[in-house]
Amino acid sequence: MQPADGTPVANPGWRDVLLGTDPALRKYWRIMRRMPGGPRCHLCSAPFAGVGAPLARLMGSPRWHKNPNYCRRCFAILDKERGGAEVECRMYSWIRLTKP
Ligand SMILES: [Zn+2]
Repeated sequence: MQPADGTPVANPGWRDVLLGTDPALRKYWRIMRRMPGGPRCHLCSAPFAGVGAPLARLMGSPRWHKNPNYCRRCFAILDKERGGAEVECRMYSWIRLTKP
């Protein structure tokens, strides 16, 4: 349940999704990953083009028109199951120094 002010709620399910250890997501990812084609959904790896794309569309994972990096299925789940979790992450960047 989400608070009235719109603040996301942390829960253990989101932690597993964000870390990539959720068993259901990993199972779906393995199925989608076997389908040939690319580019793929950044979350579930459903192919958007190539031989596997028609099957992915039949399974409810066409490319989402508002963000081409994700499928409609993933975004529907993200929109329905709002929440979050605190996870550790690292950021790397390259700093290029140039002479003036
Ligand atoms: Zn997806």
